[in-house]
Amino acid sequence: MPELPDLEVVKDYLQGVLPSQRIEAVEVLRPLVVRNLVPEDFLAVLEGGRFSDVERRGKFLLLHLESGEKLVINPMLAGRLQYCPPDRRRLAKTILVLYLSGGMDLRYVDQKAMGKVYLTRDENLVPGFARQGPDALDPELTLEVFQERLRKRRGEIKGLLTNQAVVAGIGNAYADEILFEARLYPFRKRPSLSAEETERLYDAMRGVLSQSLDTVRDRMGDDIDVKIRDFLQVHGQGGSACPRCGASISEIRARGRLTNFCRVCQPGKMIQG
Ligand SMILES: [Zn+2]
Repeated sequence: MPELPDLEVVKDYLQGVLPSQRIEAVEVLRPLVVRNLVPEDFLAVLEGGRFSDVERRGKFLLLHLESGEKLVINPMLAGRLQYCPPDRRRLAKTILVLYLSGGMDLRYVDQKAMGKVYLTRDENLVPGFARQGPDALDPELTLEVFQERLRKRRGEIKGLLTNQAVVAGIGNAYADEILFEARLYPFRKRPSLSAEETERLYDAMRGVLSQSLDTVRDRMGDDIDVKIRDFLQVHGQGGSACPRCGASISEIRARGRLTNFCRVCQPGKMIQG
């Protein structure tokens, strides 16, 4: 699942190449993934349109057109964008192809076809967009604001970190990384956290996300569809040695997803229900 660091780097890349390019033609290969929220025809709005800016908010990417419409992309589990020459072989599950005036293609590919591409004038009409909390790297999300947002919540901390209404941009992988960095058991209930632990969680969230962003930025070339995750410390590392203490990293399936953590560095016990 693309998360804040991945999408921020893709956003910056596209901001470097898309503005002022015209969309020459559009091909929709899987119409069910595309949602038109404007009264006009989807193709009629896009073809001949020109990109202005590219923005990211949480796990959404917004590709603005000079005409005021925008493509809002919610990649969900497996959606990704490709910016490539037209003769590059198309990946299976290519959903949408935009042929650009600069001679390149912008493609949306989605192995699971669970993501969505919306055409709208108002991103707040896009499901899930308006209910997002502040972006996890938003400078206005200070420790005090973070504490206040958590105070009203009683759930498990991993669930809260990945709840986009609490804080936007974190998914399963980076939640594991943040909790490892903070040395917190993922299934602790929020009210059990001390003020010091909440501060550790906040610092870990900012630190892990900004460092990962730098790493992804250094390593991602023009293949913006490739997900760079091999540098993560615990996520996807079940059975390997904990980089901190050497114990075997646990992998458990709970609450419908895999969680990796170190039972030594992040001690705790799951409370059922
Ligand atoms: Zn450990």
